[in-house]
Amino acid sequence: MRRARKVKILATLGPASSEEAVIEKLFEAGADVFRINMSHADHDLMRELVRRIRNVERKLGRPIGILADLQGPKLRVGKFKDGKVELTPGQIFTMDDDETPGDETRVFLPHPEILQAVQPGDRLLIDDGRLALQAEATDGKSIRCKVISGTKISDRKGVSLPDTTLPVGALTEKDRRDLDAVLLEDIDWVALSFIQRPEDLAEVRKIARGRVALMSKIEKPQAVTRLDEIIELSDALMVARGDLGVEMPLESVPGIQKQIVRACRKAGKPVVVATQMLESMISAPVPTRAEVSDVATAVFDGADAVMLSAESAAGDYPVEAVATMARIAEKVERDPNYPSIVNNQRSEPEATGADAVSLAARQIATTLNLSAIICYTSSGTTGLRASRERPLTPIIALSPVVETARRLSLVWGLHCVVTEDAHDLDDVVNRACHLAYREDFAKPGDRVIITVGVPLRTPGNTNMLRIAYIGMDGLTGI
Ligand code: PGA
Ligand code: MN
Repeated sequence: MRRARKVKILATLGPASSEEAVIEKLFEAGADVFRINMSHADHDLMRELVRRIRNVERKLGRPIGILADLQGPKLRVGKFKDGKVELTPGQIFTMDDDETPGDETRVFLPHPEILQAVQPGDRLLIDDGRLALQAEATDGKSIRCKVISGTKISDRKGVSLPDTTLPVGALTEKDRRDLDAVLLEDIDWVALSFIQRPEDLAEVRKIARGRVALMSKIEKPQAVTRLDEIIELSDALMVARGDLGVEMPLESVPGIQKQIVRACRKAGKPVVVATQMLESMISAPVPTRAEVSDVATAVFDGADAVMLSAESAAGDYPVEAVATMARIAEKVERDPNYPSIVNNQRSEPEATGADAVSLAARQIATTLNLSAIICYTSSGTTGLRASRERPLTPIIALSPVVETARRLSLVWGLHCVVTEDAHDLDDVVNRACHLAYREDFAKPGDRVIITVGVPLRTPGNTNMLRIAYIGMDGLTGI
């Protein structure tokens, strides 16, 4: 099965899409990677979803990526005597360490470290910003706030602190337990929510020991200010526009999205644009014009992937949402302006063999009108660098490592194929040509370009380019 687009689609699984038959339909409609949201899935459900995705993978014979998204330090208030209270702008409302149910004057905030970290002047945004408070006085055990806007607060509502650097790492106790369970499964990516600093990643890396790749969700202003360092230490990024739009003024989110996508493309790290992309499709079979335009913008920007959250997890039209996203992407990528827009943001190669070879492969493929660029990649690096060039020629990432093929399924333009370990260079060329033929990228007599590191099995040494004809039998390269 060959996708007619470069950008990838990440679909969140949930109650609307947990059955194996639906997962299969989502994949066929265009989902390349599935997200399991650990805020909602318990360990049994997570394992069951992984099993079902892998069944679909086996049945359809295409590598599928799985992303487990850790909840992170999502803060919530305690409960109220009557479930909820009404507040008036201008009044005083206190968050404290008293577990008794709240009323019109106060509520329990079950995070002692936060009670200590908030400073007078800091804002506290409740329920995605519907209620805004500002701290007036703090004593380490309570925060005396003034109500700035909004009138309602109820049990267990979320609290965002855009002005406060939280004295917490990226992993809560729940995240640690979830991560331990995730690492035992066939899962390719772990997403870290609310990371604030590069150090947050170091801790997770140590636990993960290479078993999963790490995706940093950018949803805190503190993370935006240290973007470059975070990109450096991450394997991928997500523009998590939901919480980002609570913690920062909504109108600054589009600019930050551009900034993150550009910085990631420059670094050659995959970047996902997420949240509310086709929000109205939760309850309608067609999206709004504005949503179509939003997906199109991410595609024109050359993002690696676009994501569906509730649209595929809990909406009435999960398969239609994926199919709609795929259709938008296909149309945009065929737009006459698309090549020049994507090319505008292409970065210069870094001074490495992989980058020099990737650049040359793109140019040669264009000059000679080749059918495909095929990179033989064990660790995945060559595949990532080939994608960073954003060539319009199809790229096949050929890997002897199934985990690499699955991870790379998130990456712009890569058609990933698992192959047996090649014996020598001729074997790589023959396999590459046969696969380009078998996967419908080339016909006998067509030419392809193959990039590889010789000797084989030495990671990070991409040093060879080979132009080959597909033999008349479709089996060998000449
Ligand atoms: P979430 O992350 O869906 O886990 O909150 C994405 C976002 O905040 O945009
Ligand atoms: Mn979020």
